[in-house]
Amino acid sequence: MAPAVAPVPCAVKPRLLRAYLRAVQDHHRMQSAQMCSLVRGDGFRFEKEIQEAEQAREDAKYAILVHEQEHGCHLWFDPNAPADLQDGQEWPSGLA
Ligand SMILES: [Zn+2]
Repeated sequence: MAPAVAPVPCAVKPRLLRAYLRAVQDHHRMQSAQMCSLVRGDGFRFEKEIQEAEQAREDAKYAILVHEQEHGCHLWFDPNAPADLQDGQEWPSGLA
């Protein structure tokens, strides 16, 4: 049986999650741009941008993991939280 863990409000994690989601979107956008380039016959453009976006995604992921390790807020992550929060939106009550 898992230990009972009281939810700990975290003001940082929602920001880190939004940054990660933006980084994933940017990475996908650059991959799509490359696919369009290939379809148009322009070759493998955007390699540098894809690599940079991939690095940004990894950096954002590890920022979350490091924060969770240091703050201990990984145990109460709600998998039902909306994944498409935009900048300026508030995290649903009870999650942050
Ligand atoms: Zn935290």
